Amino acid sequence: MTRYPLVDLEAVHRELGPELERAVLEVIRSQNFIGGPRIAHFEELFASYLGGGEAIGVANGTDALELAIRALEIERGAEILVPANTFIATAEAVIAAGGVPRFVDVDRLTGLIDLASCEEHISSRTRAVIPVHLYGRMVDMQGMMAFAGRHALAVIEDAAQAHGAQHAGQRAGTVGHAGCFSFYPGKNLGAFGDAGAVVTNDPQIAERLRLIRDHGRRSRNEHELIGVNSRLDPLHAAVLAVKLPHLDRWNDRRRSAAAWYRSALPAEVLDGGPDDPLADVHHLFPIMLDDRDAVALQLAQRGVQTGVHYSQTIPSTVAFSAFRQACPAAEHRAESQLSLPIHPHLARADIEFIASLVADAVWAKTA
Ligand SMILES: *Cc1c(COP(=O)(O)O)cnc(C)c1O
Repeated sequence: MTRYPLVDLEAVHRELGPELERAVLEVIRSQNFIGGPRIAHFEELFASYLGGGEAIGVANGTDALELAIRALEIERGAEILVPANTFIATAEAVIAAGGVPRFVDVDRLTGLIDLASCEEHISSRTRAVIPVHLYGRMVDMQGMMAFAGRHALAVIEDAAQAHGAQHAGQRAGTVGHAGCFSFYPGKNLGAFGDAGAVVTNDPQIAERLRLIRDHGRRSRNEHELIGVNSRLDPLHAAVLAVKLPHLDRWNDRRRSAAAWYRSALPAEVLDGGPDDPLADVHHLFPIMLDDRDAVALQLAQRGVQTGVHYSQTIPSTVAFSAFRQACPAAEHRAESQLSLPIHPHLARADIEFIASLVADAVWAKTA
């Protein structure tokens, strides 16, 4: 019996149920299931939430990454720097777009892409870098843009876990040449199924994205380039438009939950994060443990669901065996990282209970 799930979608639906049901019903009654005004409406809301630029709705976050690489016209065979510690989609998208992933290590403390490792793995064929704002933590984008500028690289932000994170007045996803979002149901902003978006400040990239996502066409039978079918569905756009106004409040509640965890957990299990509290929207709450799997089992027995993000570095998966790369800090995370439940509807008492179970497990071992 799971008393404390990693994410609690039911609680969101308890909070916004009538509004969400009305939005879905309106889509059914409109009989408008592809395209139409709901897409543009959500795209405008999302772009203005992020502080400008254009948002282009697509079918999911993986496609957002693939289409962004294609729209940036990065040539086939070009190398793209990808952190070894991320969801596999980041690297799959590179392959799907005809690129070659070049895996780089992450920072030991934060688990985020490491600039020194980027410098080390750059070659004459490198054309782009994908900083991933993992766990909801924003990568130091000032450092990233300076690095990319020195090497004339395109920057594609993977903001699938970082909706609303901001630093120095800029939201995650709006600093690079393109920013990619997933609205998978469990993300900080989630749809009723798969959905995603790309954001960009460059009108030409935006235009290409609009063509590519819909069979390369400008009008019904006018195909300008070879595209794909990766449209955002009106159903999801309607749901996302209802949820978006609540995102900042939900992220604040995640910040409170994270602060409660940090004060209740043994210091030795905590890792690092950005200095600026606004730069972290706590999509996940990672801790680091020597005996990760044993602790996860003990928590499961007490009804606490946990996750591992991620149990293998991408270059050590079977799928990416052609791209083997030693990344010691990422490998250490793969062995030691554990995600505790975090979502906007957790009470302080829930967090203190979960933290006490972690403390018991850690101290039982050292006693
Ligand atoms: C969820 C996620 C994706 C992929 O998004 P989908 O909508 O599931 O395709 C990509 N990158 C990261 C870091 C993610 O967490």
